[in-house]
Amino acid sequence: MSEKIPIELKIKDGVPGISKEQISGHYEVLYKGYCKKINEITTKLKTTDIEGANATYHPFRELKREEVFTTNATRLHEGYFDSLGGDGEIEGKIEDWIAEDFGSFESWKKEFAALGMSARGWVVLAYDFTDGRLHSYLSDIHSDGVWSAAPLLVLDVYEHAYFTDYGTGRKSYIEAYFKNIDWSEVNQKIERYGLQKVREAA
Ligand code: FE
Repeated sequence: MSEKIPIELKIKDGVPGISKEQISGHYEVLYKGYCKKINEITTKLKTTDIEGANATYHPFRELKREEVFTTNATRLHEGYFDSLGGDGEIEGKIEDWIAEDFGSFESWKKEFAALGMSARGWVVLAYDFTDGRLHSYLSDIHSDGVWSAAPLLVLDVYEHAYFTDYGTGRKSYIEAYFKNIDWSEVNQKIERYGLQKVREAA
């Protein structure tokens, strides 16, 4: 695996309802911390002896376990930061797909907000390659996830994502999140991953 370089943050100044201070701590300390750790894990794996690998304790096993946790931590945070910076107005292909797969934008939003109140870590709107449909998935920890799905929109509901701005007011944070979704970014991901073709073939 090549060296992990942190992504550029497009919402450096924060967004309405989620402050610069809140975003900056999240990005500089937590996200960059994960990037540093995945590089440390990758380097250690190069010289770790796989002899005697077993499922109770072995340095190789522990590193591979944390590789999944830490890789997902970087990917999910990138998805989260990418999801913000827009005006929350849904448009383009994703608008049609959400209506087709969830009945309406409002019903999708209602469920996604409820998932935001239910999850201990993440809520992910993902395109599942297996059935060719969108799903809103809940994840309690970075290493929980569905292996056949590409994340399109990510919501971080760990307290560190909103505590500076909202204290324990998660509901208000989720409302602010919806107002700042960058749906053009979601449409770009649909393009980049070639999902239109995948959907037609499903
Ligand atoms: Fe986070």
